[in-house]
Amino acid sequence: MEFGGFEKFTLIDFPGKIACMVYTIGCPFRCPYCHNPELVDETCTTRIDESVILKFLDERKGMIDGIVITGGEPTMHGPKLISFMREVKQRNFLIKLDTNGVHPEFIQEVIKENLADYIAMDIKSPLSKYSQTVARPVDIHAIKSSIEVIMGSDIPYEFRTTIVRSMLSVEDIEEIGREIKGAANYYLQKFVPTKILNPQFLKKVTYNDEEFARIQTMMGHYVSFCGIR
Ligand code: SF4
Repeated sequence: MEFGGFEKFTLIDFPGKIACMVYTIGCPFRCPYCHNPELVDETCTTRIDESVILKFLDERKGMIDGIVITGGEPTMHGPKLISFMREVKQRNFLIKLDTNGVHPEFIQEVIKENLADYIAMDIKSPLSKYSQTVARPVDIHAIKSSIEVIMGSDIPYEFRTTIVRSMLSVEDIEEIGREIKGAANYYLQKFVPTKILNPQFLKKVTYNDEEFARIQTMMGHYVSFCGIR
């Protein structure tokens, strides 16, 4: 398969690991705060064949721990990505998979085959507001199922939500807490306006530090660990 981006080194995207990172092309959502619009709408001109990534890994054995597969939405690539992940695992590298949860069957396959060592799933909003938040129709059952599949696995994981005040009230965030109750790790991600899909969105604001701290305490009642990043 082909990727739309490749970073050779990251210390912050795979918890506790030194990794490289690939970006898949395409996403069924249109979150207005998206940082990778050219991947989402598939206008990116970069195309990197998986053979380039695998060769890079072959040359980095013992130097990096693993690879982060992010997007776009990686799970859209089905068997092609599964096959790439098998190649990576055959080389004894760790894999972190980022997903928005649209394809629970992909996540199930990854877990069954032990193809991921860490899964990070975006929770965009409470289930009741999903389509509104991502500006596309969403199969809520798929999102719910992905949450259940991930929580039922033995693989380290996190759920995370990009917090934008104009899109998520404190009540909305608490509803997310109820929907992922019992989860191991949850992160509140501060929206940082840089390059985004909808420029109008820059005008919207986020919560201040004190409000974030209160939200963190609130979410701590639902999950084992709630962090802010
Ligand atoms: S799910 Fe992720 S990649 Fe897709 S539009 Fe939203 S932020 Fe962008």
